[in-house]
Amino acid sequence: MTKKLFWEDMYLRVFEAKVEAVDGSRVVLDQTAFNPRGGGLVSDTGTLNGARVSEVTKEGETIFHHVDPSAAMKPGDRATGVLDWDRRLRIMRMHTTAHILSSVVNGETGALITGNQINPDESRVDFNLDSFDKDKMSVFIEKVNGAAKRGLEVRTYFMKRDEAMAMPGLVKLANAAPPALDVLRIVEIGNVDTQADGGVHVKNTSEIGMVVGLRTENKGKNNRRLYFTVQ
Ligand SMILES: [Zn+2]
Repeated sequence: MTKKLFWEDMYLRVFEAKVEAVDGSRVVLDQTAFNPRGGGLVSDTGTLNGARVSEVTKEGETIFHHVDPSAAMKPGDRATGVLDWDRRLRIMRMHTTAHILSSVVNGETGALITGNQINPDESRVDFNLDSFDKDKMSVFIEKVNGAAKRGLEVRTYFMKRDEAMAMPGLVKLANAAPPALDVLRIVEIGNVDTQADGGVHVKNTSEIGMVVGLRTENKGKNNRRLYFTVQ
């Protein structure tokens, strides 16, 4: 089980850890600030003792750093991790935006989320909607920007699963209930959105900047995809 430093401080860019296991090019640390791929988010990248970390994955509660083999790490070694911060900050801005967008579209249309992909450059959210045109996209994006500009605080906390599931609006995913854990991590964006979520976010929506709707796509019956970016 890897201690998730990115849950304690989502702005931690440099950290110290101990190497617990090495499996080929995959390195397990006792703790990490690297957010692994998952929940639609691409993983962080960066360096570990100066060697390139190109991908970070998660199996159960263990986080694997895919490190350039030249690092030649072994269990017991001390390791200094450094995140590619520009990339990570964009992922956080995009991810908080995706939550606000989901809440806006859900509030306006009742649509649930059928998928999402958060990348540093361009992200998308899929909704189970039967129609979605440019005009609607503009209206939604305008509302998202309104929420971003209000400077809403983003809070994270832990809650017992049964209490969390009783909160209205918690589940906006069409196909997935939150994981079957006793305690869920909750991400609350002002009064706009509350979700069970394991990912990384900005701490205030004022950090998002300007959200730009890029395009919409039809992805089959009752599935509409909206692409956006942040500037
Ligand atoms: Zn999320």
